[in-house]
Amino acid sequence: MRQKECPSCGIEIDKNYNLCPICKYEFPVKSKFNIKIIAVILIILFAYPLIKLFINLINK
Ligand SMILES: [Zn+2]
Repeated sequence: MRQKECPSCGIEIDKNYNLCPICKYEFPVKSKFNIKIIAVILIILFAYPLIKLFINLINK
């Protein structure tokens, strides 16, 4: 369960390793955190015009 497969040589290694001990393949850094940041940025980008519109409606 706590193992991952090396895409380069196909060997099962510990999930905590970022470097394959057999072929020295470097695993890319987990993108989970980056996806969260992108999601937040997208939400802000979409929400900002709506908030602006809402403020304009209130000020009328
Ligand atoms: Zn490998």
